[in-house]
Amino acid sequence: EAHAEVVIIGGGAAGIALAASLKARRPELDIAIIEPADVHYYQPGWTMVGGGIFDPATTAKTMASLIPAGVRWIKAAVAAFEPQKNAVILEGCRLVTYRALVVAAGLKLNWAGIEGLSETLGRNGVTSNYRYDLAPYTWELVQSLKRGRAVFTQPPMPIKCAGAPQKALYLSADHWYRQGLLKDIDIDFFNAGAVLFGVKEYVPALMAYIERYQAQLHFQHTLTRIDGEKKRAWFWKADADGTKSVIETDFDIIHVVPPQVAPDFVRVSPLADAAGWVDVDQSTLRHKTFGGVFALGDVANTPNAKTAAAARKQAPIVAHNLLRDLGYGGDRDAIYDGYGSCPLTVERGKIVLAEFGYGGKLLPSFPGWLLDGTKPSHLAWLLKERALPPIYWQAMLRGREWMAKPELVA
Ligand code: FAD
Repeated sequence: EAHAEVVIIGGGAAGIALAASLKARRPELDIAIIEPADVHYYQPGWTMVGGGIFDPATTAKTMASLIPAGVRWIKAAVAAFEPQKNAVILEGCRLVTYRALVVAAGLKLNWAGIEGLSETLGRNGVTSNYRYDLAPYTWELVQSLKRGRAVFTQPPMPIKCAGAPQKALYLSADHWYRQGLLKDIDIDFFNAGAVLFGVKEYVPALMAYIERYQAQLHFQHTLTRIDGEKKRAWFWKADADGTKSVIETDFDIIHVVPPQVAPDFVRVSPLADAAGWVDVDQSTLRHKTFGGVFALGDVANTPNAKTAAAARKQAPIVAHNLLRDLGYGGDRDAIYDGYGSCPLTVERGKIVLAEFGYGGKLLPSFPGWLLDGTKPSHLAWLLKERALPPIYWQAMLRGREWMAKPELVA
């Protein structure tokens, strides 16, 4: 049996940022991160890998190099929670006890949720930027396609980086546009949702690109089955009267985004809400029933955009509130406003930078004269290509929080 004052489950974007934030505030704090993986991925880079812009190796670093000095690494997977006993159970039945627990285990990509997908992923023109090993295949396929049908899919919400399915479309189409191939390539976007993007202010700029690339939009179409060898895909189409019909398409290449759910061990635990996500207060990120428990990142049930940008803002909020609960000072809670960000790569060299909080409230980081997020911008592209990766590795994961000071309740 092991014990740590603070136990963090998951060494992803949220877990490492939080550990670093806690250490920056209170260097002597006894923290353990439970994480089974050897490699940590900068997933926001995968869209750029799929567009042939980033080298995949730049999006991966060893877990050991990122766990902050002085934080213990328990290299194991958590299997279950015992919040009444302040304990978690590891696979293999070891127990780890804590004073405070933070769940930052991310989400589960449910590849098995689409019939036939696992068998054909990475072959037959079937790809996904949602996997490190497949994002380079996207770029390979895009370069080799000269004529035919390119299909892009988006599953039901919530998903991490809601814009990523259409980012793959734009960067692929931009390549064909520049090569003069668009007249011979049909592009289809099958989207389980009813709108192109959930915050309406960004839709006009995106629609202009849909028109430029002559992409056909198919709303309320959910991918259910794929046959790689026959190059066919099937969708459920929800009709206005509530009935469903099956739609079939052929493809030469298809970019699939899998359905996304809470990790199994979280979904079946007492910490979960009815949908399976950790049930926390959306302002303080404290668990609604169990004292001393917090969640941040993709695993939390907060209605923000599930992004690394959200985790960057959440980490100092959780650090502050958790230290306060442990009696280390702070007379008020820090409050999270739901900030998340989605840099939509509409073409090489331009981005529509969506930044918004709870209720779709626009929360731009820059004054409008410098960078208007609702318009395609070259500066936003430079931010994504040059500035955000070092901000992630050198600031967010190291507890340097000049980009994310917690807002305190008055
Ligand atoms: P993760 O970073 O996924 O980390 C979860 C960690 O938990 C993993 O290390 C995992 O091994 C660990 N874990 C899982 N199960 C267990 C267990 N049982 N026990 C212990 N540990 C466990 N975000 C942006 O801000 N901007 C973007 O442009 C952007 N684009 C994206 C594009 C793509 C293609 C993808 C896939 C994601 C993108 N994101 C983007 C989203 C961003 O990557 C995630 O929101 C972010 O990584 C969430 O951090 P997290 O720590 O919650 O989860």
